[in-house]
Amino acid sequence: MPDRRAFVTQLAAGAALLPAALRSRGYAQDPVLDTIPGRTAPGHRELVSWRPEPFRNHQVALRPGLVLTARNHNQAYLHLLPNDRLAHMFRITAGLPSNAEPLGGWEAPKVELRGHLSGGHYLSACALMYAATGDESLKRKAYGLVDALAACQKAHGNGYLSAFPVSFFDRLREGKPVWAPFYTLHKILAGHLDMYVHCGNEQALKTAEGLAGWVGRWTQPLSYDLMQRILLTEYGGMNEVMYNLYAVTGKEEYVAIARRFETASFFDPLQAHRDELKGLHANTHIPQVIGAARGYELTREPRYYNIADYFWHEITGERAYATGGTSNNEYWQHDPGHMAVGPASEECCCGYNMLKLTRHIFGWSGDPAAMDYYERTLFNSRLGTQEEHGLKQYYVALRPGLWRTFNTPFDSFWCCTGTGMEEFSKMNDTIYFHDQHGVYVNLFIASELNAPEMNLRLRQDTSFPEQEGTALTVVAAPREELALNLRVPYWAQGGGLKLNGQPLPVFSNPSSYVSLRRRWRNGDRVEMDLPMQLHAETLHGNPELVAMMYGPVCLAGDFGKAGITQKMRYGNSGPWGQPAKVPTLQLDHPDQANWVEQVRGEPLRFQLAGQSQTVPLRPFYQVRDSQFAVYWPAHYKPRRWRGRQA
Ligand SMILES: [Zn+2]
Repeated sequence: MPDRRAFVTQLAAGAALLPAALRSRGYAQDPVLDTIPGRTAPGHRELVSWRPEPFRNHQVALRPGLVLTARNHNQAYLHLLPNDRLAHMFRITAGLPSNAEPLGGWEAPKVELRGHLSGGHYLSACALMYAATGDESLKRKAYGLVDALAACQKAHGNGYLSAFPVSFFDRLREGKPVWAPFYTLHKILAGHLDMYVHCGNEQALKTAEGLAGWVGRWTQPLSYDLMQRILLTEYGGMNEVMYNLYAVTGKEEYVAIARRFETASFFDPLQAHRDELKGLHANTHIPQVIGAARGYELTREPRYYNIADYFWHEITGERAYATGGTSNNEYWQHDPGHMAVGPASEECCCGYNMLKLTRHIFGWSGDPAAMDYYERTLFNSRLGTQEEHGLKQYYVALRPGLWRTFNTPFDSFWCCTGTGMEEFSKMNDTIYFHDQHGVYVNLFIASELNAPEMNLRLRQDTSFPEQEGTALTVVAAPREELALNLRVPYWAQGGGLKLNGQPLPVFSNPSSYVSLRRRWRNGDRVEMDLPMQLHAETLHGNPELVAMMYGPVCLAGDFGKAGITQKMRYGNSGPWGQPAKVPTLQLDHPDQANWVEQVRGEPLRFQLAGQSQTVPLRPFYQVRDSQFAVYWPAHYKPRRWRGRQA
């Protein structure tokens, strides 16, 4: 372990540089976990602090707009799931009575992943939703489930808690087929920890510690080699949750357990900056890297930084679709810079986990490119994956002409149902960050920030991306100078700022922050214009598939809903059927953008131009029930393209 005393001294020296208003709240705030209301002690276990760092979830209120609407849909779905059905298989496994109707899908009594959502993701989602909204009735419901699961753990008597018997772990140790027992345990541990962190539920922490102790005792006698073999079976973010338990409790044994959950064959090449991801299951591995990020923050070992930083750049640079998503048939199938699309491209969990990782990358670096990626993925890969009843997608099919499919309320419960529940509970968590000098406005989402520790209230009014820009009003101003750092996105083509209606002679380059530092007054209003333009993006390694963006927004050709039945939309993990016929574009070169034109008079309405047929295009996040094309097949007029290349 690094020398803590040296670090604390360094911190104390740093603290003198801070404005008095910020000093009182503690400098080394735990970036992930020190969000417990009322806790003021600095998170000394964090050896690498985030600068900038997020506000606590309850400090950022969403205001009416598409993001709040999406969260409301999710909130209604969380209320819909009955506790006795969620707890049923935990009770049966613990030998306790239960007459509830079992849930179906991946929570069904014979499915080996049961418990991942009902005792895991669900608790995380409720905790995050409570942190964001203060929904007391949802909190009470989640407390009830924590109670019920604690009774199950007590009945097992050894810390174990699961909706399947411990024999699954015997199978894992013996190399017999079993789905992913540690993956499921990770969700249960994280769900309980989130209930502690965001809701202050002490019993949930006790349950998590009891279960973590069981994991420690189970893994302890296993040799390194045997453990490495066991880690080839998906285990989620077991390393991450153990680091987080350490961050909360200070018990070093959790660091030791976290280190046992490191797959050498995956981490070693990343550490050496080699992309050997081809052939790996994507969502098995992204959570392990989030664990590496937490390892870096809590141990300051550069190895973990190299793993997380290199991986993030590799995925976002070489292995992402125009939507920001990654994976095809759940795998990275090709060498870097080469991708394919199909009915099962872009597993939703991958987008969720990449956004989680992106927060760490941004926290370490303040790199605007991280927030460019966050915006791209949030708006294009995440927002459209939930429908109006709060039901979520599994795969986002990027083969041209397919459609979106969603879970059924009680009979699907895919991994992506669970991560989606969490995602749409925490839509407010990245809009604003801050450092000792001021606030970062990362995302353009209607919201209000209330930061009494900075004597600041800030309101953001925008219908972005329908509106090409945003407006910020200082509702309550601090007495001291404060910097408002506004993100100028990678896609911005020019742009401008106004203060109280008067143009300001400053702006910044694409993919940067423009910083307005002044003594603000109540009612000051900053308007930022961000003109959008059409720009094409080909699939990595395959210019014969091309997507069109307008500013940050992926556009999708809308081929209508005539061919889509309710049965095709609900219950299937992907669109298993015939795609609509999507015309092949006739183009001169890959970055040509004039094959789409804007329809005047309506925001974000477009159509194909100069092609064999006219097809309407809309933002992909708006296309929920039609057959669509994000990527279009393209044919290039050979001579002209060759001529251009020469
Ligand atoms: Zn998934």
